[in-house]
Amino acid sequence: MDRKIERIVELMIRSKNTIAVTGAGISTEAGIPDFRGENGIYRKLGENNVMKIINIDSFYKNPDKFYSFYREHFMFPPVEPSKAHYMLADMEKKGRLHGIVTQNIDNLHQKAGSKKVIPIHGNSERFVCTKRSCRHVYDRDYILNYPGTVPLCSSCGSVIKPDVVLFGEHIHNYIDARDSILRAQVLIVIGSSLTVYPLAGFVKEFSTFTQDLVIINKGRTELDHAATVKLDTGNTGDVLEKICGSL
Ligand SMILES: [Zn+2]
Repeated sequence: MDRKIERIVELMIRSKNTIAVTGAGISTEAGIPDFRGENGIYRKLGENNVMKIINIDSFYKNPDKFYSFYREHFMFPPVEPSKAHYMLADMEKKGRLHGIVTQNIDNLHQKAGSKKVIPIHGNSERFVCTKRSCRHVYDRDYILNYPGTVPLCSSCGSVIKPDVVLFGEHIHNYIDARDSILRAQVLIVIGSSLTVYPLAGFVKEFSTFTQDLVIINKGRTELDHAATVKLDTGNTGDVLEKICGSL
C-alpha cells in the first residue's frame, strides 16, 4: 500500500497536468447513498422502473409524478464533503491537481473548495427554469419550501427542472470533459468502477495512450489491467491525505 502511494506521489510531482475523475465511491464516504450500490435505489426499485420516471419525457409529460418521485428519492438533506473531497481541493491549491471531472451531482467538490470542476451529470443543488428565454436559477430551499409538488418559476410561471442530467438527456460539458481527460498526463480515477458511459469511454480512450492511469477504488474496475497503479481501498480519504501530505 505505502509503496503504491509513493508511486502515485512520484507520478503527480512529475506531471504538469493531473486530472481526477470521481464517481459515487468518493461521496458514499460523505454519507451519500450510491444509487447503483447495494442499498441504492436502482437495486431496490429496478433501474428500468427508475428510468421510466427519471427521464426527460416523463418530466415534461407528467411533472407531478416526476417530482413526487424525485422529492422522495433524490433530494437528500445537505451533507458535508468528506476528507477525500477536501484533500482534492488541497491538491488543487498546491498546484498538483489541475481539474476534476465528476459523475456526482452532489456539489461536494465545489463545497470543499475545488475550483476546476466539470460536473458532467449536473448539480442537484441547482434548479433551472425550463423556459429558454428565462433560465432563472433556484436553490434546493426554493423547491423544498414550494407550496406545491411541481415548483414553478416565480418570474415566468414555467416548470423548474433539477439541473441534473436525466435519462434521455446528453451529459453536460461533453467536449470539455473529454478534452480534459485526454490531455491529462496523469489521470486519477477515484471511487468509480468505470461502467457508466460516456465517461468510462473517455477513460478507456485515455488508457490507450502512454500517459499514466491511476485507479483508487474499492473493488475491481473495467480498466485495472491498463492502470500504472491500482489501489484497492474503502478509505479514499486516508489514502488521499497521505498522498497530499507528500506533495
Ligand atoms: Zn422562468
